[in-house]
Amino acid sequence: MTILTNAHTHLELGWLADACPGVSGQPFVSWLTHLVERRWRLGSDWRRIYEAAIEDGILELLASGATHVGDITATGISIGPLLASGLKGIVYVEVLGLDEAQADERLNQARAIIDAWRPKERSDMRVGLSIHAPYSVHPVLWEKALDYARREALPLCIHVAESAAEYDYLSLDTGPLVDEYYLALNLSPIRAPMVTPVQYLDNLGALELKPLLVHTIHVAQEDVLRIAANDCSVVHCPRSNLRLQCGRMPLEAFLAAGVPVYLGTDSRASCPSLDIRDELEVAVALHHGKVSPEAIEAMLRRPLPYTVDEST
Ligand SMILES: [Zn+2]
Repeated sequence: MTILTNAHTHLELGWLADACPGVSGQPFVSWLTHLVERRWRLGSDWRRIYEAAIEDGILELLASGATHVGDITATGISIGPLLASGLKGIVYVEVLGLDEAQADERLNQARAIIDAWRPKERSDMRVGLSIHAPYSVHPVLWEKALDYARREALPLCIHVAESAAEYDYLSLDTGPLVDEYYLALNLSPIRAPMVTPVQYLDNLGALELKPLLVHTIHVAQEDVLRIAANDCSVVHCPRSNLRLQCGRMPLEAFLAAGVPVYLGTDSRASCPSLDIRDELEVAVALHHGKVSPEAIEAMLRRPLPYTVDEST
C-alpha cells in the first residue's frame, strides 16, 4: 500500500467551508475572530452539523486516496467515525482556554473523551491530545495538560508560530491579537512572555514531549534547532498559510536541521479541499528553488509519529 498522509485536518469544522478566504487571502486574526464567533453562535443542532461535516470529510479524504490522517477534534465526535473509516493516524482531542478558573474543567472535558476512547484505539489509529496554541491557552492549563500528556504518554499536537500576529504578541506584546482578537471576543489575554512562540513552548516544557507542531512559520533559526534537538515533528499547511496571509514556512531550514516534516491541508475553513495532492502541488511551487519536488513529495509518504501500521 502506498502511504498518503494528510497530517492536519479539523474534520468537524467542515461546516465552516464558506469562511475559507479566497486566493487573495484574509488576515489571520480577522478570520480567526469570525470563526470563533460562528462557533459560539451555533444553535442546538450543532452536533448534527459536526457529524455531517465529519462524514463528508472522511469521504473526501478516502476519495483523495489518503491512507493516514492527523485530525483535531474539540468534541471527540470524529474519533468513532475515524476508527471505523479504515484510515490510519491520530485523532487529537483539543483543549484550550484563557480563563485560569476554568483550567481544570477544560482539561477534564478532554480527559473524559480521551479516557472513553483510548481502550478502543489501535496502534495504527491512536487518540492523542492537542493543546491548541500559545496565545489561546492559560499557563496553568498548559501545566496541567502537559503533565497529563506526560503521565499518559499521549501523542501531542500543538499549533505554533502560525501568524505574525502570534509572534508579535508573544515576543513584543503588540499587534492585532491584542487589538482585535482578545478585545472583540472579550477574552483575557495571557501575559506576553516576550520570547518567540517556539521558545515559549520550550520554556513550558512542551517540546520535550516531542509534539507534532503545526505551521511553524514565524521561527528564528534557533527555534528550528530547538525543534530538531527535541526530536519534534512539524506539519506544513501551505494553502491555509497563504490564504490566511501567514507567510512561507522556511521548509528548507527544517529539512536541513533533520526535522521530520509532514504536509497537511488544515480544515476546510482555511483550505479549499482535503486533497493532500493539491497541497503538494502548491508546496512544490511555493518552495521552488529552495526544496526539490522529490523532497516535498516524500513528506506525504510517511505515517504519523507514535503510530505503528498493524498490517506491516
Ligand atoms: Zn489547525
